[in-house]
Amino acid sequence: MKYSQLFGKTSKTVASDADSINAKLLTQAAFIQKQISGVYNYLPLGLRVLTKIQNIIREEMNKIDGQEILMPAMTQEESWITTGRNTMEVLFHLKGQGDTNLVLNPTHEEVVTPLVQKYVFSYRDLPLAVYQIQTKFRNEARAKSGLLRGREFNMKDLYSFHIDETDLNRYYEIVKQAYFKIYERIGIGQETVLTFASGGNFSQFSHEFQTLNEGGEDTIYLCPICRVAVNKEIIDTQKTCPECGSDKLEAVKATEVGNIFKLRTKFSEAFKFYYSDSQGQKKIVEMGCYGMGPSRVMGTVVELRHDDVGIIWPKNIAPYQIHLIGLDGLGEDLYQELLSKNVDVIFDDREISAGAKFADADLIGIPIRLVISQRSQEKGGIEFKLRSEKESEIIEAKDLVSKIIKFYN
Ligand code: ATP
Ligand code: MG
Repeated sequence: MKYSQLFGKTSKTVASDADSINAKLLTQAAFIQKQISGVYNYLPLGLRVLTKIQNIIREEMNKIDGQEILMPAMTQEESWITTGRNTMEVLFHLKGQGDTNLVLNPTHEEVVTPLVQKYVFSYRDLPLAVYQIQTKFRNEARAKSGLLRGREFNMKDLYSFHIDETDLNRYYEIVKQAYFKIYERIGIGQETVLTFASGGNFSQFSHEFQTLNEGGEDTIYLCPICRVAVNKEIIDTQKTCPECGSDKLEAVKATEVGNIFKLRTKFSEAFKFYYSDSQGQKKIVEMGCYGMGPSRVMGTVVELRHDDVGIIWPKNIAPYQIHLIGLDGLGEDLYQELLSKNVDVIFDDREISAGAKFADADLIGIPIRLVISQRSQEKGGIEFKLRSEKESEIIEAKDLVSKIIKFYN
């Protein structure tokens, strides 16, 4: 991609209502553009990052036998009356044709339970896990902090169905491990901790995945020994580390990037979802649900990975692999060569000052910056600099592609 052609350019000024680092940097670098409070447009750079996050999640969900589906964003209100959740404050209500009452789904238990019920009758049909990556709508009281708390946002939601609690517990642990793998691949594994939260009526705990960061909205109590935490909501009933019993928990700020929950039979009872066991007995289905917010994850990454001049993308979710800057009219040949070797490159081909190009590269935050100029050629090649490092080096043209491939593998 040539930067001169890219839809969405960097801006020197910060949006006056950008209330967080991620809103400020992502808007300034033209990854996102605010529509209304808590609702954003994704521009080409932003959509690339979001898609990479989604694809990492998708791969890990597929590995644990999740089957991808896509459920509708709107649903008849009756389904929400059936479960008693039609009074939830975050529900957006709509009127359809003939005055029918509809809602925009903030989550999909009310859709997925009756859907799966249409195909699952016997113990032979279980276990089953389906997921989607879709837009959710929540009329949040305080939409804020850029992508961290939207009213329209992206969620991956996985739902699992089991013959009994033992099988639910088995699968729940598998999902937990898959979640750690996902955060690791995205590049926030170091800061993301398992957090014990309230389990609702049916289970002792649910688990959140909380990413430690100073701008985080949640307070969690972290065990310095185990690096697991307890959510503020349950700290009065759980004052020690659930793993090692330590009472030295430390209050820290964090952002919830995932939440897994044993629903048990809450929704299967509401929709009368039974199966017949091997003896032909009628049994209730056990369920789990597992949420993760790709858009919130994207915002959280920026909160964690930035400096004074811009974003520093982790390599697996960067919008491009290479930010190529051409000076003195150079760069086109190298750009074509990189494209021919399948290197994912954005080429700043504009006729503007070197300083302005460098500043934009820092703001956008692609992991590797290459500069080709008369000076770099006099020094024997192309300047290679990591966004995360201060120093640059000169690489001979013949060694460039292998160096790039090595970095990304
Ligand atoms: P929170 O406590 O932060 O309001 P939640 O517990 O209601 O979130 P879940 O229903 O568990 O969230 O949703 C699953 C995941 O979706 C969350 O872990 C988070 O990553 C993401 N998510 C939830 N609400 C929002 C939102 N308003 N904007 C962006 N992402 C969100
Ligand atoms: Mg939650």
